[in-house]
Amino acid sequence: MIKNEVSLTGDRPTGALHYGHYVGSLKSRVALQNNDSITARYVMIADLQALTDNADNPQKITENILNVMCDYLAVGLSPDKTTFFLQSHIPALSELPMYYSNLVTVARLQRNPTVKAEMQSKSMTSSSVPVGFFTYPISQAADITCVGATVVPVGEDQLPMIEQTREIVHTFNRLYGKGKNILMEPVAILPEKALNGRLVGTDGKTKMSKSLNNCIYLKDTADIICSKVKGMFTDPNHLRINDPGNTENNPVFIYLRSFCTDEHFQMFCPVYQNLAEMEAHYRKGGLGDGTVKKFLTDVLIAEFEPIYTRRLQWEQHLNDVKDILYKGTNETIEVTSKTLEAVRSAIGIMKF
Ligand code: ATP
Ligand code: MG
Repeated sequence: MIKNEVSLTGDRPTGALHYGHYVGSLKSRVALQNNDSITARYVMIADLQALTDNADNPQKITENILNVMCDYLAVGLSPDKTTFFLQSHIPALSELPMYYSNLVTVARLQRNPTVKAEMQSKSMTSSSVPVGFFTYPISQAADITCVGATVVPVGEDQLPMIEQTREIVHTFNRLYGKGKNILMEPVAILPEKALNGRLVGTDGKTKMSKSLNNCIYLKDTADIICSKVKGMFTDPNHLRINDPGNTENNPVFIYLRSFCTDEHFQMFCPVYQNLAEMEAHYRKGGLGDGTVKKFLTDVLIAEFEPIYTRRLQWEQHLNDVKDILYKGTNETIEVTSKTLEAVRSAIGIMKF
């Protein structure tokens, strides 16, 4: 990575954050805080984007803003290194999409695989989809470019959005740049372990997602973690302990691949040295789901209890949490107004 990178990511405040966010994006964001090539780091709460498919329930969005902020602070994002801001309070984010939307065709938006999949899961058709939802990739290009972001640490589902942003930037610079790059083309940063780019939900069917009720949340207590793991699907053909089992598409093992380390085996399940040994035993037969689930519960509690405890502390200081968001939002208004100025001037919008 070269010097002077700027990072940005965001989350929709449609609920508290879950383990998918943690492995898919939050962990990389925390790591970027110690990367000196990055000169500015932004994290956005995407309340405008969340409204695009929750217009009938704005209260849900408002209520979850501080929830998401507490999650950020609990995982170790720090206001000393990261600027947090609220999307709805940045005037440039309402204006930039107006200019960018002229650079994107309806056909191109229709081809966006993430929008397609999300429309399908929300039973939206091409005529019933709200315009705001259909065009949110354009707003997302504004989110990324408004602070000049060059790196975006995200889960796999966001790759088509980054690609679309790159196209918008490319077209913008070609049309209005007069040989200069007014806007920067961003790149996505995916998690180191590919499987973490799309953590499956506890139902084992699709990605863990706030809207699908298949999540373990960062704010879940040890008891809740335990009962969610108990209720998880495993291999449906592994009926008796001695039956050979499948670990491949088995969500309990998928989670172990994401979260457990050899040290966890030493601490909680020393009969195995590592996951490969445990998986081999399960495949051969003779290892019960209860034992594997108990181990997964121990691993998750060990990994997430410190986060849970820090979260409780922030929850007791919500005024401080609000102040952090307020301060960051004001700083971002300053930065983004400069981008807006550059964009207007490149297009040649008249100045009074
Ligand atoms: P919603 O259901 O409201 O869309 P969500 O759970 O999909 O919520 P987002 O706010 O859309 O969460 O996503 C925020 C970030 O977290 C994105 O970078 C996304 O790629 C990442 N992310 C979300 N879910 C997962 C997952 N299951 N695995 C890995 N990364 C994820
Ligand atoms: Mg989503």
